[in-house]
Amino acid sequence: MKIGFIGLGAMGFPMARHLSKEHQVIVRNRTREKAEKHAREHGSTLAADLKECASADVIITILPTSKEVDEIVDQLLPHLRRGMLWIDATSGDPNVSRATAARLNEKGVEFVDAPVTGAVVGAENATLTIMIGGSEKGFERAREILRLNGKTLIHVGPVGSGHAIKVLTNSIMGATVWITSECMLLAKQLGIDMKTAFAVTNAGSGRSNASENLLPMRLVDGKWPLVFKLAHHDKDIRIAAALSHQQHASTPMLALTSQLFTAALHELGDGADYIEVAKIVAKMNGTEW
Ligand code: NDP
Repeated sequence: MKIGFIGLGAMGFPMARHLSKEHQVIVRNRTREKAEKHAREHGSTLAADLKECASADVIITILPTSKEVDEIVDQLLPHLRRGMLWIDATSGDPNVSRATAARLNEKGVEFVDAPVTGAVVGAENATLTIMIGGSEKGFERAREILRLNGKTLIHVGPVGSGHAIKVLTNSIMGATVWITSECMLLAKQLGIDMKTAFAVTNAGSGRSNASENLLPMRLVDGKWPLVFKLAHHDKDIRIAAALSHQQHASTPMLALTSQLFTAALHELGDGADYIEVAKIVAKMNGTEW
């Protein structure tokens, strides 16, 4: 299969590497050097220009937001052929992806949204969970390719549903990180050793990925790696909050989480990791970890 892969960021670079093992992958990236490196070291082919990606049977995009994906769609639309498949692995906006799918369908191109979860380590190890929105046929076609990137591939529903569940599940994580940080800070202020506080939490009903993995490394060991950009996480939660508004739903916790993450992003800046919101929790209390 010939695949045009667009977006060699933290996730896209290793994903395209796995696909290159079984497919002919042509790579394209805004910063050309990354695509050159990929072609040099990982068995892909450098696309001479964006248009060349349209010579593929399948196009995969993984870009920051649906806006950048749509800009690429605009540029490629005149060159697309009937029967092609477009897989968008971006954590995008379901409203935009439905409109994008309609535009592509007019050209006879099938679209599926296929956002991923499992972080960069999951992309590196091809153990991502991939949630796919699209027709049954689109899902089957996408699964045949994306099985090289993930262990769990789930057909969520029609186009847009992959993007919808992705932002909802990231919102759950965001709220969990925040409340766990607040309670850990309180535990510390009450004189409880951090390791003990985590041990008790993880042996009981407060346990989560935040308490088991994400926060101990930062709050106990003092390591703050950049794993997932806060800017991306804030974007996901804002999409979820907008979906809630659109549904006329009452979701005050989601609204608050969105507000807190946006405030944290303004405070910490574009280069911050998403777990650094814990620093804001401490700052709101006039202290540090
Ligand atoms: P990165 O910021 O590492 O990479 C973004 C990619 O998009 C780069 O290839 C970048 O090119 C390209 N890009 C940015 N702006 C434009 C533009 N205007 N036009 C064309 N290309 C552009 O992001 P990630 O790989 O971390 O994330 C990608 C998507 O995956 C996001 O939607 C994110 O929410 C989601 N995601 C990320 C996870 C993670 O742990 N990182 C986990 C799960 C989902 P350039 O190299 O030139 O900057």
